[in-house]
Amino acid sequence: MKNFKQIFKEAENKISGIAAAPGLVIARAYLFTKEKLEISDAEITDVEEAKRNLEEALQKSKKELNKIFSIAKEKMEGRRAAIFEAQMMILDDPILIKNITARIENEKKQPEFIVNDEISKYQHLMTNAHEAYMNERAHDIEDIKNRIIRNLQKKRWQSKITNDVIVVSDSLTPADTILLSRNNAKGFITDHGGLTSHAAIISRSLNIPAVVGTHKATQLIKEGDILAVDGFHGYVIINPNDEQKKFFVEKIDRLVQLQKGLEELKDKPAKTEDGREIHLMANVDVSGEVDLVITSGAKGIGLFRTEQILEEFGEFPTEDEQTEIYSSLASRIYPNPIIIRAFDIGGDKFKFLDFVEPNPFLGLRGIRLLLENEKLFKTQIRAVLRASKNKNILFMLPMISAIYEIRKSKEIIKTCMHELKHENQTFDKDIKTGIMVEVPSAAVMAQDFAKETDFLSIGTNDLIQYLMAVDRGNDLVSDLYQEFNPSVIRTISHVVTEAKKQHKEVSLCGEMAADTLAIPLLVGLGLASLSISPSTIPYAKRIIRSLSYSKAKALAEKCLTFSTEHEVTKEIEKFFEENSITRTRNII
Ligand code: PEP
Ligand code: MG
Repeated sequence: MKNFKQIFKEAENKISGIAAAPGLVIARAYLFTKEKLEISDAEITDVEEAKRNLEEALQKSKKELNKIFSIAKEKMEGRRAAIFEAQMMILDDPILIKNITARIENEKKQPEFIVNDEISKYQHLMTNAHEAYMNERAHDIEDIKNRIIRNLQKKRWQSKITNDVIVVSDSLTPADTILLSRNNAKGFITDHGGLTSHAAIISRSLNIPAVVGTHKATQLIKEGDILAVDGFHGYVIINPNDEQKKFFVEKIDRLVQLQKGLEELKDKPAKTEDGREIHLMANVDVSGEVDLVITSGAKGIGLFRTEQILEEFGEFPTEDEQTEIYSSLASRIYPNPIIIRAFDIGGDKFKFLDFVEPNPFLGLRGIRLLLENEKLFKTQIRAVLRASKNKNILFMLPMISAIYEIRKSKEIIKTCMHELKHENQTFDKDIKTGIMVEVPSAAVMAQDFAKETDFLSIGTNDLIQYLMAVDRGNDLVSDLYQEFNPSVIRTISHVVTEAKKQHKEVSLCGEMAADTLAIPLLVGLGLASLSISPSTIPYAKRIIRSLSYSKAKALAEKCLTFSTEHEVTKEIEKFFEENSITRTRNII
């Protein structure tokens, strides 16, 4: 049988985008184009009538949004439904309404022209901010503007969907996403939008597969085309041929099989057959994912990537804003713990100011940038401390490569504690501070570093990149990005052994732990805590529960003797077969 690469990699009918919401679906395309609203700037004779029309349109818009808001609340978590509450507030903004009314009186033009002009001003301000978050909010404003204009023109929102379809659109507003999902939308594909776009967040909440940011879906896909959408990997096949269709249908069947019985595992421990319990925690990128963490049965958040807040905000949130974000996450996850990682800025992540580095991955990234910008670092530390009252927060430092970085950070944390004490603020004065082990120097020095810190967390995403000198995002060298390379597993083994010598906890939070094929090896290497994406937790738990720790240990010992990646992979595959363990790698 041909593998995925042979069938899809070079396929001309494949378009790639961002995997925004997991799932697989095949259905016909429905091109959702919003009717272009013609806006008239004709003069009016009856100002009072125009004002009445405006008032009616505002009321109607409010009523519509209220309805969408109540559907949203029913279907998803409250904080997310609040997107619509924010839109409703625009409708109640007294300054905006006063300006529009005054202009109708003075200029005597159609209200739709004035509404369009006034609200567009807000929009331009936001679009020009060149920040992802502000751009998303500009789309929300576009939605409310069009809603008012449509109601002034007495037109109705229409969707002609009758059968199950995959909605293809330039972009989708939160309201469209909700309404289309009520109208048999089984998948979403958009030209624009990122992981944090509302359409993406809502699709994840509603469990509808979505691929966003494809750039060209609306150009290449025609109404009625058959589409196969993979929301796990972020691609779409247009009119799949027989071979592709067969491959995809089999994939869906396997997914259905794999999902059977997973639900029941939620409240069961991730314990091996011979009684070793593995702490399965969740990696969280967007704060909205917490409901997924809770339903996944995770034992807490093993990595909260705070730099994602910067992507969402488009700037540095204040101390109070950060305190609120961290407190809310910590209380939602309580009594389980949350490991909040300090901003890992730089590399391929959120850019700080506009400076350009010739080699950003080896540049001012993570802890290096924070120590250079102490004020910024202190704001975050103070917010983390203020949120730590319930003692379920741990703090973690990214990209540690030298011991002085730990010492200096601890000094700054101490200073922040003194300040807060003077301000009579309560916080967890025994808060645990740990480090990421993701730079080879930290791995080599694991024991010395472990002495100075409370816990270690191995970040294989970067560790592999720096160990193998291979850019984690570069397709040209992706064959060398090998998680089962003997150098990688020997390094992990070294870190685990060295941390244990200091009786310090060590976990692993890179993507490697989400690769179900890697789990027996990682358990066998002695890791008792793994942090992975919430959606993979049930799969990982199932594997752990069907493992024997002593056999996994023997597997790891054997793998540590190999000198090629191929030998390691073969040995692991043999292990899965001999022990009849269901695997998911290369299956979904
Ligand atoms: C890692 O490097 O493995 C890690 C978990 O951090 P990030 O992916 O955020 O760099
Ligand atoms: Mg990293």
